[in-house]
Amino acid sequence: MNTQDYIAKEDKFGAHNYHPLPVVLDKGQGVYVWDVEGRKYFDFLSAYSAVNQGHCHPKIVSAMTEQAEKLTLTSRAFYTSVLGEYEEFITKYFGYDKVLPMNTGAEGDETALKLCRKWAYTKKGIKENEAKIIVCENNFHGRTITVISMSTDPDSYSGFGPFTPGFVTIPYDDIDALEKELEDPNVAGFLVEPIQGEAGVHVPSVGYLNKAYELCKEKNVLFIADEVQTGIARTGKLLACDHEGVRPDILILGKALSGGVYPVSAVLCDDDIMLCIKPGEHGSTFGGNPVAAKVAIAALEVIKDENLAEKATEMGEYFRDELGKINSDMIETIRGKGLLNAIVINPKEGKTAWDVCVAMKENGLLAKPTHDHIIRFAPPLVITRAELSEAVSIIQKTLAEFD
Ligand code: PLP
Repeated sequence: MNTQDYIAKEDKFGAHNYHPLPVVLDKGQGVYVWDVEGRKYFDFLSAYSAVNQGHCHPKIVSAMTEQAEKLTLTSRAFYTSVLGEYEEFITKYFGYDKVLPMNTGAEGDETALKLCRKWAYTKKGIKENEAKIIVCENNFHGRTITVISMSTDPDSYSGFGPFTPGFVTIPYDDIDALEKELEDPNVAGFLVEPIQGEAGVHVPSVGYLNKAYELCKEKNVLFIADEVQTGIARTGKLLACDHEGVRPDILILGKALSGGVYPVSAVLCDDDIMLCIKPGEHGSTFGGNPVAAKVAIAALEVIKDENLAEKATEMGEYFRDELGKINSDMIETIRGKGLLNAIVINPKEGKTAWDVCVAMKENGLLAKPTHDHIIRFAPPLVITRAELSEAVSIIQKTLAEFD
């Protein structure tokens, strides 16, 4: 089978809920992936920042295979010899009393929303069914019905109503709007991405997260950070909130929590919030399974062993500097933090960010447009300076082809 055959098969038998670039991948190692015809590419998407530790990291893969041969799943009907070890490890790693393990990012968000509502009724004293959670315009928290109920993107929500009530939307990076909505005593939480990834890597003003956190504290409102995309060293700190010294009341992690080898997500908070949920009120068959537990420990160890947060800072600065030297009228803006970056493309003679991504693929680099005109660049954090330099040459060469 060749590339076209694989694409035709997915097209015929799979739902059409994605629009992939026309490349069929077969193998990955570190910052590289190979297609079925053996062509090698830089991966500048990293599965939407899930593969921060690099493809098929040997330590993470062996943690998975070793555990897979011993015990894979028991459900939470029983204790396992692994879950407590993981729970102790991750709570100490991030500095919280407790963790609630789930599988996907969207489930992590759902879990945080449930925790926030339960806390609102049992601790804050809001009348049952009246709690509100403030969310931001252009957010992306996943694809479940409740999560898309918070979305302002018609592609996410159109045709999927009726929606879950209880959300109040404000502009992102707007402290005044937050302050105004916090006047409502029924507000229980503020859910925010420290950098809006899917929206196109929007970095808020310096001080925004810190001020937002303080305002939430004043009103006894939970500050809930969705760090599914920004967390685990991607932006140059372990958490993007660390850039402003903010410790979220509820922290949501996913993606790179497994280094991309397995779906693992987690919600962390202290006892005062976590213990509001009682046995039987929330869970998931696979959440906290032994393989996930071992994989997450290994994935988090790799982040520290290999200093990936520091690398993301250093390489991110170098990358943005080098991108800034490219002379192309198709580059409107370059922005980002650490190794979560984007360029905004100025369409030229009908050629869009999609065409640029297809052309970059031809030249050996994979990236994907988000919202028509933005290209996100988020390579695995293990990328070296020499590799980044080569990647920038590919981007430069590709843009030159459009001149
Ligand atoms: N939250 C954020 C900030 C995300 O970027 C994403 C996915 O891109 C999600 C949640 C959803 O994660 P998942 O696709 O694992 O459900």
